[in-house]
Amino acid sequence: MTDSLATVSYIGATILFVLSLGGLSNPETSRRGNLYGMIGMTIAVLATVFGPRVSAAGIPWIIGAMVVGGAIGVYAARTVQMTQMPELVALMHSLVGMAAALVGFASYFDPTSHLQGAEKSIHSIEIYVGILIGVVTFTGSLIAFGKLNGKIGGSPLTLPGRHWMNLAGLLVVIYFGGVFMNAPAGEGVVPLIVMTVIAGLFGIHMVMAIGGADMPVVVSMLNSYSGWAAAATGFMLSNDLLIVVGALVGSSGAILSYIMCKAMNRSFISVIAGGFGTAGGTAAPKGDAAQPAGEVVPISSLETAELLREAKSVIIVPGYGMAVAQAQHTVFEITKLLREKKVNIRFGIHPVAGRMPGHMNVLLAEAKVPYDIVLEMDELNDDFPKTDVVMVIGANDIVNPGAQDDPSSPIAGMPVLEVWKAKTSIVMKRSMASGYAGVDNPLFYKENNRMLFGDAKKMLDEVLVALKA
Ligand code: NDP
Repeated sequence: MTDSLATVSYIGATILFVLSLGGLSNPETSRRGNLYGMIGMTIAVLATVFGPRVSAAGIPWIIGAMVVGGAIGVYAARTVQMTQMPELVALMHSLVGMAAALVGFASYFDPTSHLQGAEKSIHSIEIYVGILIGVVTFTGSLIAFGKLNGKIGGSPLTLPGRHWMNLAGLLVVIYFGGVFMNAPAGEGVVPLIVMTVIAGLFGIHMVMAIGGADMPVVVSMLNSYSGWAAAATGFMLSNDLLIVVGALVGSSGAILSYIMCKAMNRSFISVIAGGFGTAGGTAAPKGDAAQPAGEVVPISSLETAELLREAKSVIIVPGYGMAVAQAQHTVFEITKLLREKKVNIRFGIHPVAGRMPGHMNVLLAEAKVPYDIVLEMDELNDDFPKTDVVMVIGANDIVNPGAQDDPSSPIAGMPVLEVWKAKTSIVMKRSMASGYAGVDNPLFYKENNRMLFGDAKKMLDEVLVALKA
């Protein structure tokens, strides 16, 4: 392939990636967005592998690596459960970071490189910064992977003087950056290794210090870092397409992190500084937040069906439990039935419902729930007082009134779906256990709230049978 054909292909791929991002911004166009991305990536890979910078001798190696990598990718895509997606994404980010760091070392040791003067200095900066970002992304993502799959506890690690430690690490990295730049050819290995070790420790420390409740932001923040790591690789390899794609991923990840911080009423800096949130899945220690008082009123699936049958307006609020139970298809069947009975039924989606951005939208789209009845939290929050029945399916933190009226709650200030304002709310979950942020939920004790205890899929199947009867 000639140089100019490769350049044209890169421009085409860049346009397709931009169109892909545009498509992914809306569930209705997301399939098309994915398709653009896939075509763009195929063009990019072909133009690179058969482009002017790869020798014929290297092609079998590349194809071999692609077959092995592709096989692992296909296996992972087929076997990974939807609920394990965030862990998989974190693991993928770690691979991008590792690739950036390896490319950095390979560029440094490249025997064919004979750069001099300003060119050599710029290339050295690219290598140093590329390895730095790559290693932080690599170790940070591995810790995020461990936290998301529960192998590492969710509580934030708050070492004494941790901000000073981070600052000291940064100063050492800057100092050794100077040493690396001034080292004679081939003698910069020691500063490079010192920086790599510090960057690795920083990545581990950064994510260990972030509590369970902030993990959604961490996932998208690492997504952003992986983009910048790819852009840094692009600079090292003088590959324009990689620079553009890296910048697209880096900036879209940063925008997503910002949106999620806003959705959780957290400042980006305080998330990165860490120390917020508790381990997921257990009740918060007593005294941390006011303990809710009152009685819990259980309800049966028959009674739930009765309430739904009599309702004129219904809002369904899905959460992580719906994903675990894989209840979305039954949810769709119930929705279809109620719509046939002219019930105004809609879905309320919280920006951090589930375990990854867009988790609920993906599940509902998979179950073929029409997009026009799936609404964002802000579009729907004023409608709860006019709603007869709210069904909360395996959601907890995102419907916790304590976020609004208990300043001592670990999730204080996080916007929530105000389901308790409806005539009746029904919470479907297996027990009184807390959600991801580990805080008790006063909603369960409200007078107009009912608890439908059991696995969401099993309970909804029963409700569906009762509705059809
Ligand atoms: P939560 O984790 O707050 O609550 C989920 C609830 O589902 C649990 O209380 C659990 O209760 C219930 N549940 C679990 N399995 C089942 C089942 N089989 N059937 C019925 N219920 C079940 O989820 P939310 O969606 O309300 O909130 C999301 C939380 O996750 C937030 O704290 C958010 O910050 C965090 N998070 C979000 C990410 C994102 O990007 N969206 C990423 C990482 C974390 P029980 O055990 O009693 O059944």
